[in-house]
Amino acid sequence: MEHVDVIIVGAGLSGVGGACHLSRACPTKSFVILEGRERMGGTWDLFRYPGVRSDSDMYTLGYRFRPWRDNRAMAGGPAILRYIRDTAAEYKIDKLIRYNHRVRRVSWSSERACWTVEAEMGPDKALVQLSCNFLYLCTGYYDYDSGYTPEWQGVERFRGKIIHPQKWPEDLDYAGKRVVVIGSGATAVTLVPALAERAAHVTMLQRSPSYIVSRPAEDKIANLLRRVLPDRAAYMLARWKNVLSGTFFYSLARNRPNVFKWMVARGVRHELGDKYDSKDFTPPYNPWDQRLCLVPDADLFHSMREERVSVVTDRIETFTEDGLLLKSGTHVDADIVVTATGLVLKLFSGMQLVVDSVPVVMPKTLVYKGMMFSDVPNLAFAVGYTNASWTLKCDLIAEYVCRLLNHMDHHGYNVCTPRVNDADIEEEPVLDFNSGYVLRALDALPRQGSKTPWRLHQNYVKDLSMMRYGRVEDGTMEFRSAPVARQSEAEVVVSG
Ligand SMILES: Cc1cc2nc3c(=O)[nH]c(=O)nc-3n(C[C@H](O)[C@H](O)[C@H](O)COP(=O)(O)OP(=O)(O)OC[C@H]3O[C@@H](n4cnc5c(N)ncnc54)[C@H](O)[C@@H]3O)c2cc1C
Repeated sequence: MEHVDVIIVGAGLSGVGGACHLSRACPTKSFVILEGRERMGGTWDLFRYPGVRSDSDMYTLGYRFRPWRDNRAMAGGPAILRYIRDTAAEYKIDKLIRYNHRVRRVSWSSERACWTVEAEMGPDKALVQLSCNFLYLCTGYYDYDSGYTPEWQGVERFRGKIIHPQKWPEDLDYAGKRVVVIGSGATAVTLVPALAERAAHVTMLQRSPSYIVSRPAEDKIANLLRRVLPDRAAYMLARWKNVLSGTFFYSLARNRPNVFKWMVARGVRHELGDKYDSKDFTPPYNPWDQRLCLVPDADLFHSMREERVSVVTDRIETFTEDGLLLKSGTHVDADIVVTATGLVLKLFSGMQLVVDSVPVVMPKTLVYKGMMFSDVPNLAFAVGYTNASWTLKCDLIAEYVCRLLNHMDHHGYNVCTPRVNDADIEEEPVLDFNSGYVLRALDALPRQGSKTPWRLHQNYVKDLSMMRYGRVEDGTMEFRSAPVARQSEAEVVVSG
């Protein structure tokens, strides 16, 4: 069985970033990246709907070690995909990606102090086994096979097309068509103005509104910094500016929700003028109970002002032959219905985790520093922030993985396991977020603890001090030296 020091699973934004960190900070470690799809990029390769873009700025969604050089701070999907590919090529980790390797099961043996990773390879799903000392899961957080679609009455009667944004047909012609987008989250507010450029009319049909804030697509200060400072210095300053302003506005939203609500409503009223209707823009929850929606240069509001887009807050009674009948009795005509109703949250894409022949039961584990599980040795995972850019946290996690590996080498350890050794730790849900996709999956998720290092801070500055500067031997991580795993030359194909 082929053996490497580290296996990274997933070649999306965090897998590619993790591999670059590893190649920089642990140059002697051997590693491979197993990717289930035939291309890298993950989310930014999968999602192809019109207008797909980031809704956080690229100075914080980009990697700490590689400046974002585009003028647009909120970038389009293709530009982000290019950035990921260019980074992989620049750091020469693209050659280490093994595509069409879908990992199904990973099992730890304490006796051999290593993980065995089982993957299905290629269209005939041949089973491949590899082993490694350390496993780094960068598999994202949702089901790639399909998005979430609620059940509605009368769907079979509808004569038009129903499309989920996760499976956007390349050849969909929506020019001159009446389009209804069901949803009010990030995907809906991205799609609606993009579709409105060619559609006859777009209706955004929402059960309840979201908080929507307009931000400039280009960050003038960041662009100015780039003109007067060297690349890296400008990038670092822009990154910190956005980290601090994001942290400030998040704390304002949580600590002074009424002030924040007033500011958001004032912004929307200012953009929409007499087209503003508070019922379409006043969510029934507090800011950041669900993710805030950011729109670049108020594009959604411009298309509403030009009457190419309307927003309707109502519930669906039934689909009809030519549209949707709403609970209020209103009928919305449609040729195409887009169900921007969310993702299916699926940790590690459903792969099975086993430690010494016993399957790991996620809800029975506690999350350590937001990157490892209690009693699961030598395994880290990359999951980003819910209230800030994903990469801010994933960069810190990858750095910490490197620190951990170097620390173990230095002290002759080869096993590290977070252990809950404080009886006062109380268990809590891992996310205090009430978005539909989180609530639907909460029971299957791990838990967090009431105290550091078991508490998820969702705060970059706190995590930075803990993960970049905090002690690796923190009294919670147990280290030991165990017999070294056996290595052999070739990857073994077990069955076809
Ligand atoms: C449309 C959209 C827009 C978003 N915009 C933002 C944003 O603006 N800001 C932000 O912070 N976040 C955003 N997010 C969240 C986004 O997913 C992250 O920012 C980031 O791209 C996730 O990167 P990742 O590499 O961790 O996961 P992914 O991009 O999901 O990549 C995971 C990779 O792992 C592979 N994989 C999964 N399971 C296996 C397996 N078992 N075996 C082998 N390979 C496997 C997948 O094929 C995929 O290539 C957005 C998400 C979506 C869907």
